[in-house]
Amino acid sequence: MNFIVGLEDKLRKGPNNAPRLRVLITDHVDHLLLDYLRNRLGFDVDEMCDLGREGLLNRICDYDILVVRSRTLVDKEVLSRAANLKIIVRAGSGLDNVDLEEAAARGVKVVNAPEGNVYSVAELTIALMMNAARRISFAHNLVREGDWTKVRGTELYGKTLGIIGFGRIGSMVGRIAKCLGMRVLAYDIRDVSDTARLIDAVVVKDMDELLKKSDVVSLHVPLTRETYHLIGKRELWTMKRGAILVNTARGKVVDTKALLEALEEGIIGAAALDILENEPPKEEWELKLINHPRVIVTPHIGAETDEAQRRICEIVISKLEEALKGL
Ligand code: NAD
Repeated sequence: MNFIVGLEDKLRKGPNNAPRLRVLITDHVDHLLLDYLRNRLGFDVDEMCDLGREGLLNRICDYDILVVRSRTLVDKEVLSRAANLKIIVRAGSGLDNVDLEEAAARGVKVVNAPEGNVYSVAELTIALMMNAARRISFAHNLVREGDWTKVRGTELYGKTLGIIGFGRIGSMVGRIAKCLGMRVLAYDIRDVSDTARLIDAVVVKDMDELLKKSDVVSLHVPLTRETYHLIGKRELWTMKRGAILVNTARGKVVDTKALLEALEEGIIGAAALDILENEPPKEEWELKLINHPRVIVTPHIGAETDEAQRRICEIVISKLEEALKGL
């Protein structure tokens, strides 16, 4: 508390007692963060969620702090125009939309809050998995059309869930799945045996083994150069016939054209996706995918809960205080 009071004094010591730092917010964030920046720290905050790429490129030079979620791309070009930028706040988890190397080279600090949305994303993952197994959205749409046909699905109890990326979210999904009576396989490039032991999951060293044995495969890896199209045609064709693929990580982790082909050929039983390669989808083949009767798509809502957004704000506020100390 004392520190915050001290920080307010320090940062307000601009000419004419004006706030010293200017903040640009380009994606919707919880009012908690906005209030903190504007009212608690007295910063000059501009919230411009419809700014677009050109607008960002033209205006970024005026700001000290940039606040984004996953929608705003903060790449080399943006950073090259950001002469005054000191801190990027990513109000969420994945950092694939921020060029971390370029930010580091320019001395721009990056803060995020990967701890804030674990329950929300894990719960959505389980919801999508159940929806795909019982074809809930499909059945719901039939009822809306006046069709009372009984839609048959499959149970999850006793089935095998393969989790690729057994970090914060992946292991939480595994924990909930165990409560549903599922067998859980975990694949990760790190040694995750301690976490796996805690929830009675089985670590597999080979991703193909997981793909071959799992009735449901759920993806929880970050998007990196290595994970781009991690699940491509070969991997989809390695999966158990009729298995369900759930992706709440990043759209580009899956080769979506290959996924459409796998669905059309009956290789994959269903796909449940919270994210797509293009958000919103624009290509014809993407529209074909989202209209496939065995596909469920949600518009990147993994972290979109009151609780996660509040938690994310609390975490980035505390990290921001640390980052501001060093300015
Ligand atoms: P995390 O860092 O805790 O876990 C990611 C795990 O993936 C790590 O254990 C890492 O070792 C592993 N990994 C990395 N590369 C791998 C590879 N090639 N093969 C296998 N494992 C690999 O991250 P997290 O907090 O669990 O989040 C996971 C991802 O979920 C995020 O990076 C983000 O892309 C996504 N996410 C999505 C939403 C949403 O709204 N849908 C919200 C939050 C996070």
